[in-house]
Amino acid sequence: MKNGMIIHPGELSKKWIDRLADAGIDTLGIHPEGGKDAPKTLERLLSLLETPEYRALIDYARSRGLEVEYECHAAGYLMDKSLFADHPEYFWMYAAGERVSDWNFCVSNADALSLFAKRAASLALALYGSSKNFYFWMDDGRGIHCHCPKCRALSPSDQQYIALRAALDEIRRHIPDARLAYLAYIDTITPPTLAHNVGGLFLEYAPFEKYTAKGEDSAIRIERERAMIAPLLEYFGREDAKVLEYWYDNSLFSRWKKPPARFVLDEKAMSADIRDYRAIGFDRISTFACFLGEDYEELYGEADITPFRKAFE
Ligand SMILES: [Zn+2]
Repeated sequence: MKNGMIIHPGELSKKWIDRLADAGIDTLGIHPEGGKDAPKTLERLLSLLETPEYRALIDYARSRGLEVEYECHAAGYLMDKSLFADHPEYFWMYAAGERVSDWNFCVSNADALSLFAKRAASLALALYGSSKNFYFWMDDGRGIHCHCPKCRALSPSDQQYIALRAALDEIRRHIPDARLAYLAYIDTITPPTLAHNVGGLFLEYAPFEKYTAKGEDSAIRIERERAMIAPLLEYFGREDAKVLEYWYDNSLFSRWKKPPARFVLDEKAMSADIRDYRAIGFDRISTFACFLGEDYEELYGEADITPFRKAFE
């Protein structure tokens, strides 16, 4: 079973890479910050990836045996907002009936879908040193899928599926064995309802709401999670199925505000979760580990990541 840790682009350093490799972690994930600014943070990552210094870090990570992956809320970047003035029909319609360019796009518009897919292929090719697993998530929010007359009957999961299918087909014209993650998260936590061709799409299950639903009995939560995961695995299959966890996500625990808070690992909960995910049949588990970079170390010293690796033994 593979494991990985995901950090913000600006946190990548030789030290972080050594820490991961020394602990025996398999995968380094790089995640430009999400939320409303996700298109800008992804653009900044792409600029970094053009510099020799950053490329040297990626090369170093690979030389130390780490697989490199990029996980991003990409829809806002992939649907070029400058097209809105001439083509408002490419963009999403919110429930009140107006089209706006702020989030996602209209997946029922064939031209919009084709532009989205072509830009996804360019993005895949620009992610220096990336594995063949790509993570181009829809925008980061709730209730931001298209409500136009053609999309209205499509759930957020259906809309994500349509966008990903088109993107992967285009990416595979350039990278034949590429795979693309379906992010099951907030609005897309239920499987799509469309007749499916999941070839090349894999499940990425992110239990974000576990961390916002406070006070729930853990036995009840695990039962509820299992009930949620079962239909997702049935739809996407177990092969390559991945969990995206938050055990080390000090950006979440710092409420995404610097300076970082002191990180305290809930090792017991993490070990129980990992046991459970293995029993369910996931192939890979990654955890966010943001806000544990150099500024964290200056305040609190180095965070110990070895319990994560040990929990897989
Ligand atoms: Zn639409």
